Amino acid sequence: MKAAVIYQVGDIKIVDREIPAPAPDEVLIRVKACGVCGTDHSLFVGAYPANYPVIIGHEFSGVVEAVGNAVTTIQVGDRVTADPNRVCHKCDFCRMGSEHLCENARSMGVHIDGADAEYCVMTESNVYKLPDTVSFEQAAFCEPLACANHGIELLDLRLGDTVLVLGAGAMGNLLLQCCKNFGATTIVVSEPIDMRREKALENGATHVINPTVQDVDQELRKIRRIGADVVIEAAGSPKLQEASIYYARRGGSVLWFGCAPQDQQASINGFYVNDAELKIIGSYNNLFSTQIAIDLIASGKIQVDNLVSHHFALQDYLDVFKVWGGKDTLKLMVNTD
Ligand SMILES: [Zn+2]
Ligand SMILES: [Zn+2]
Repeated sequence: MKAAVIYQVGDIKIVDREIPAPAPDEVLIRVKACGVCGTDHSLFVGAYPANYPVIIGHEFSGVVEAVGNAVTTIQVGDRVTADPNRVCHKCDFCRMGSEHLCENARSMGVHIDGADAEYCVMTESNVYKLPDTVSFEQAAFCEPLACANHGIELLDLRLGDTVLVLGAGAMGNLLLQCCKNFGATTIVVSEPIDMRREKALENGATHVINPTVQDVDQELRKIRRIGADVVIEAAGSPKLQEASIYYARRGGSVLWFGCAPQDQQASINGFYVNDAELKIIGSYNNLFSTQIAIDLIASGKIQVDNLVSHHFALQDYLDVFKVWGGKDTLKLMVNTD
């Protein structure tokens, strides 16, 4: 089978690999669609730790081609997506119900082979069936949406809240839609790229700010004098993390959702955090929210169709990071058929 393998920082090749054989508790999936995540790019530039060489990709969907002999709930021919993080079910974190914090977690496309390939294997307990009404491309958004939903669940969002989202990439667009569903009535989005601000408005933002020509704090305070109840940093930028605490109202919450480079620091004034009684919350992966993500997409409560900006065939994966970060980009989608 063809697979996009990252060998080391900056080095991805399309290679031929053996089709993996499913273990007794595993499912072999013929991949149909796989979204490109910021994490994939971070692997490519060395900003996120990974086990090289590894097949990249973890936001995927496909059709079950074969099942191991202990598999009981999934059948050949099922249309599926998966939570790409295998956990041990044995460590202290798994035993306290925080499986996403598992000390022995192995994530597809990071520690174990991923889904930018014609086939991949996943444990049965990570695989979820799709309704016929959800397309493969829509289903490739289940993993990022599950992560967005997890982040929002960590906040104490209330009906009528004012939310500021910093960054309107695919994640920012999913996060703002989650906030809308949770009852936020004022959703302000700061984003330098014109096309992304337009998408944010299409997806439910009530106000947008262009931080390259507008002062974010001034614009925010015209909308809400005391600042936002909730600020979500969705860009993974230490500079934005630093700024984010000053956009929250006293007693408000700040969610650091974006994955910042592992070797960079954010500098925070501890006095201010105390004095304003801020909650600064990190968010990592997802916890039992894959089925929720499927249901949100199937019901139309979260829309993802306008978030795909580019399609790539698997054999053209090398073009992905040439396009990455451009002004016309949002979610890049790899189609394996
Ligand atoms: Zn992802
Ligand atoms: Zn564990």
